[in-house]
Amino acid sequence: MDTPLPPGATIGILGGGQLGRMSALAAAQLGYKCHIFSPDADAPAKEISAVQTTAPYEDIDAARQFAENVDIVTFEFENVPDATLAAISEISRVRPSVAALQVSQDRQIEKSFLNDHGVGTASWAPIIDVADIATAIATTGLPAILKTSRFGYDGKGQLRIDQESELVTSWGKIGNTPAILEGLVDFEREISVIVARSADGTTETYVPVDNVHRNHILNTTTAPSTVTDSVANEARRMAVQIVTALELVGLLAVEMFVLFNGDLLVNEIAPRPHNSGHWTIDACAVSQFEQFIRAVCGLPLGDPSRHSNAVMTNLIGDEADTWTKLTAETGACLHLYGKMEIRPGRKMGHVTRLSPISCLA
Ligand code: AMP
Repeated sequence: MDTPLPPGATIGILGGGQLGRMSALAAAQLGYKCHIFSPDADAPAKEISAVQTTAPYEDIDAARQFAENVDIVTFEFENVPDATLAAISEISRVRPSVAALQVSQDRQIEKSFLNDHGVGTASWAPIIDVADIATAIATTGLPAILKTSRFGYDGKGQLRIDQESELVTSWGKIGNTPAILEGLVDFEREISVIVARSADGTTETYVPVDNVHRNHILNTTTAPSTVTDSVANEARRMAVQIVTALELVGLLAVEMFVLFNGDLLVNEIAPRPHNSGHWTIDACAVSQFEQFIRAVCGLPLGDPSRHSNAVMTNLIGDEADTWTKLTAETGACLHLYGKMEIRPGRKMGHVTRLSPISCLA
């Protein structure tokens, strides 16, 4: 273990959304200050942080100044330009490393990395040129999903392809940018595992959880997942294998499809706290956000076991208007992100409902 950052040190966070906000709250609990870098002046994380930079992610001078004023840099948003990250890492330590970040920034690199390490994914093929289209369909079959290689989240940049003739048009719709074609997976359910890894290579996993999406956005997370113990153990093993192969110091969320025969395929990895880990704030001694801060700052990892089972429901768009009702509901833990404008599809907050359990798992 390297020397931990002492209380009072400043953590620089690239990105100012709710993940940054909840990370900054956890950092404050451990006595750290946070400096948030984001282009939005009213970013949710800025409201609760000591220092802020408001500049585009492409502003290298602002990024350098930011790096000079913090003790370590991390991120809650993967799509920070390479040149900005390179400039920052010349000045400050970045955790997770830029190399680990780059794997999850690009679906082609991500899937190749996973497959090269023996981790199963949906069948997939890269599309860089129109000539790749026929080969891609031959690899994945139909139906398939076309996904942009970069900058996709919550189903953005994704199109379902049922007929071969649709693919050229659909690729045009996403700007003919580098993409992957992925075979449609017939899954029984979707789960995720959040794993933390410290600088000395120690890992801790949270219990696998069941995730249900609505309109491509996470709707509920149920902890723990009701998969069999052997599937849950395998999911945790795979998460540890991936975080170790990436040599990532920080937090990694691994989203997986569970097939009807119990096999697991990895859909996506994210090198940061994840929406499917929000339940840990209220149901675990050490939340995913505290675990993230601990790993990044070189503190020992905390105990990820839970004292309660939990169901986390996202509050999307005007669902946040139910806040008065939710504050009156016994056992409901309400978290609102301080976003002033309600927009359809916007994550405004979440509510976690707890069922205390007598023994820890
Ligand atoms: P992603 O942005 O890749 O995480 O995809 C968002 C959601 O779309 C996933 O959580 C799944 O519900 C669905 N999805 C993505 N890829 C596939 C696939 N290859 N087969 C079936 N469903 C998928």
